[in-house]
Amino acid sequence: MIQSLQGIGMTSARTRERMINRLIQQGICSHKILDVMRNTPRHIFMDEALAHRAYEDTALPIGYNQTISQPYIVAKMTELLLAASARLTCVLEIGTGCGYQTAILAQLADHVYSVERIAPLQKKAKDRLWDLKLKNVSYLHSDGGWGWPDHAPYDGILVAAAPPEIPEMLLQQMAIGGVMLIPIGKDDKQQLQRVTRTESGYDIEKLEPVVFVPFLSGRK
Ligand code: SAH
Repeated sequence: MIQSLQGIGMTSARTRERMINRLIQQGICSHKILDVMRNTPRHIFMDEALAHRAYEDTALPIGYNQTISQPYIVAKMTELLLAASARLTCVLEIGTGCGYQTAILAQLADHVYSVERIAPLQKKAKDRLWDLKLKNVSYLHSDGGWGWPDHAPYDGILVAAAPPEIPEMLLQQMAIGGVMLIPIGKDDKQQLQRVTRTESGYDIEKLEPVVFVPFLSGRK
């Protein structure tokens, strides 16, 4: 096993268990998700200089002005996505970033389609998931505002960057009964929203205040 995948001191089982206990206190109750997060080495998703902070409940820089999402928000969005269907078959993720959320989803869904606009970030994420032997993921370097029409409809869509409003193309790519979790708004006025596609339209629920990086258009 490569060095970075081993449990070195600061990434010990005890440190990880503290993160899991914090998630439980914050209201995460899905054992399935807690188990997957306990067993996924979060420290390999960030630069070595920051690896010792990997299990803190905070967003941390991953380069290119982007951040790895805070463990609580990863757990919360995943829980909301899983709650919606007995089985997640086909999930679309917008904003691969460092790939941590992708790795969690890949262990809970049949297939994950992940779109990222910054090519080098996505390349690194892809390598990490390969090292973890998570092979049920496809990657696309694109502006996530277009979604990924080739594999639609999706029974789950998870968006990791905040647009001012819900992109129309993403709504179109939802399956009936499918759910999308998406932060909407600017800077410190963002709100997590849950969109459910019904036979006749879309139900939109406003959940809780969140802080995400902005959803930007175009590729880099
Ligand atoms: N879940 C990721 C979150 C990374 S931050 C993680 O934990 O690492 C959000 C990511 O969304 C960034 O990598 C950013 O480049 C990407 N992003 C922002 N706008 C986007 C868009 N329009 N299309 C695709 N990716 C986008």
